[in-house]
Amino acid sequence: MFSTQPILFVPHGAPTFALRPGAAGAALTAAARTLARPRAIVIVSAHWDTATPTVGFADRPDTIHDFWGFSEALYALHYPATGCREAAQEVVAAIQAAGLPVQTDPQRGLDHGAWVPLRLMFPDADVPVIPLSIQSRGGPVTAWRLGQALAPLATQGFLIIASGNVTHNLGDVQIAWRHGGQTPAYVREFSDWIAARLAARDLPALLNYRQQAPGAVRAHPTDEHLLPLFVALGASGNPAQIERFHAGIDDYVLAMDAYAFLLGDGGYA
Ligand code: ZN
Repeated sequence: MFSTQPILFVPHGAPTFALRPGAAGAALTAAARTLARPRAIVIVSAHWDTATPTVGFADRPDTIHDFWGFSEALYALHYPATGCREAAQEVVAAIQAAGLPVQTDPQRGLDHGAWVPLRLMFPDADVPVIPLSIQSRGGPVTAWRLGQALAPLATQGFLIIASGNVTHNLGDVQIAWRHGGQTPAYVREFSDWIAARLAARDLPALLNYRQQAPGAVRAHPTDEHLLPLFVALGASGNPAQIERFHAGIDDYVLAMDAYAFLLGDGGYA
């Protein structure tokens, strides 16, 4: 599917995505099959939010069931990933080389923003996984700069996966679960605006999405679920191609769009 090893932005939806992957899950599984096998995966999840960029060093990161009130079947799922201290140290070094502060966490596991898509993409859990946190207080610019720091890793055998959602309003999800209903207009308007601005390489508008995009504040009452997209964008530099390899809506209101950012220099593959 991809001509070079991409940097990926993937959706993780509601936790139930693990049990009902649907079309978005199928797209992630299919995309992963076309990837060059990476040395390690750097996974940047919306659900690990710290003041300072933090890199996970666990040898066997736990599967974190960071959700409440779901079916037993979800809590029974585990993703038996391994970590890799050497690879994690390279992630630390890349962030330091960019002049950014960085911390390490010897025990951090994989939250559902990490393990749910990884389980769909690498079901054998045979590639080491390095979790990296976002800094929601810094907004899109901070996320984009963190992504820029990761750019060298993309040509050194790392697969960078950023996991969020293009729309993410939990209040609207709850209403949809209780009452069903229709997809509010903002879901498509916002996700199509993101797609158009990405296609236009309009970085200023993207970084200023909260002021410029239709329905931005409704799509993201808080913006931690969009920030991984900026990490992926930063890591890809000036991508040769940006491919929206899945577009869809789950649970009425969660845009499940997935993007591949293909490097201009052909990547490492
Ligand atoms: Zn989430």
